[in-house]
Amino acid sequence: MYSYSLLKKSLSFFVKFSICACLLLGFALGAGNILFPYDRNVFGNGSQPGKIRTVVIDAGHGGRDGGAVAEDGTLEKHLNLAVALQLKALLESADIRVVMTRETDIELASPDSPHKKADDLKAREKLAESCENAVFVSIHMNRFPVEKYKGLQVYYSENHENSLILAQTIQNVSEETLRNTQDRKVKPAGDSIYLMAHLEIPAVLVECGFLSNPEELSLLKNEAYRKKLAMCLYASLMGYFAENA
Ligand SMILES: [Zn+2]
Repeated sequence: MYSYSLLKKSLSFFVKFSICACLLLGFALGAGNILFPYDRNVFGNGSQPGKIRTVVIDAGHGGRDGGAVAEDGTLEKHLNLAVALQLKALLESADIRVVMTRETDIELASPDSPHKKADDLKAREKLAESCENAVFVSIHMNRFPVEKYKGLQVYYSENHENSLILAQTIQNVSEETLRNTQDRKVKPAGDSIYLMAHLEIPAVLVECGFLSNPEELSLLKNEAYRKKLAMCLYASLMGYFAENA
């Protein structure tokens, strides 16, 4: 016979189980609108004439700049772009305008530029600042000399108060859905990350995982997991728009 506390425990287990089952079903179906049921008619661009929401998605690195390199030679730039393109598709399906800093394996500096990294970053900044009513999401992968670290790390620009809100939303959603954050806190980017230091619009940089952690590397190389990451960012942005835009 169940005691009251046992019954409570069972109910709480049932509720948690149901939530997990729904999340798994959502990811399995790849259906953002089932997993994160934000109604596109309520939050999409179509509902508020004259106020087009734009997400600038920045796939970090590209071209001659491969970004971090994993032990097996996997280049960060390719994983960044793969997540970015999946996020683009999800946002566009919800009628959000998307501007990509790159959609292929290119850099934004001219080939003969003597300051290719600086010019590349300035071009990304210029593109983002030219978009009205936009938020900026930069997608990167982490690498660290110690293998044990894994999970997301979200940095935010301190130039706009909404950056912290968006960063915290991403952190919260990732804790719920990916369960892979190692209780990490969001961090102000300070001056160390060019785009976060210079952009005036709400801006975050998401290190989606550690190439230096072998388990996480194999997850990041898996398309289904990258879709999960993209879904996490998508749900965070929709939640952010619902409250702040
Ligand atoms: Zn990077």
